[in-house]
Amino acid sequence: MKPALFLDRDGTLNVDCPYCNSSEKTIMYDDIFVPLEELSKKYYIIIITNQSGVGKGIITMAQLDEVNNKVKVEIEGRGGRVDAIFCCIHKPEDKCECRKPNTKLLSLAFSSFSIDREHSFVIGDDDKDMVMARNFGIRGIRIRRKGDENGDYFAQDFYKVLEVINGT
Ligand SMILES: [Mg+2]
Repeated sequence: MKPALFLDRDGTLNVDCPYCNSSEKTIMYDDIFVPLEELSKKYYIIIITNQSGVGKGIITMAQLDEVNNKVKVEIEGRGGRVDAIFCCIHKPEDKCECRKPNTKLLSLAFSSFSIDREHSFVIGDDDKDMVMARNFGIRGIRIRRKGDENGDYFAQDFYKVLEVINGT
């Protein structure tokens, strides 16, 4: 059993590109790589992402896979690791249980890995990420790339995330 970092994808690991449909358009934030290399040694690294573009018919599953794969390959090419990527592909109006801030994808992660909940974190740039964390009883670290306010902890980038985690 070990703790997990549940990472949002768009706006957290890569520059948000709405309904991103290709690896060329997927631009990674440079500050994620060194911290994720260190964090991958102690934590499961699990990406949880809302991708309603699939449900809306704007992007295909193949395009979603291409972007997800780019994120994984970039992180793993720089010494980190991605254990799993869980996606909600529904539209908001589908009222599914997996679209953040709902917690079904967290439940799925907990049934797939032996995770120490108490020492885990959700890391994301959006209120939805922080609300999901709170709904599930996990601490949330808000990436403030957009200068937002809500969250248990705040970090301007992943170096600050590493400091926050090492300091808790
Ligand atoms: Mg985001």
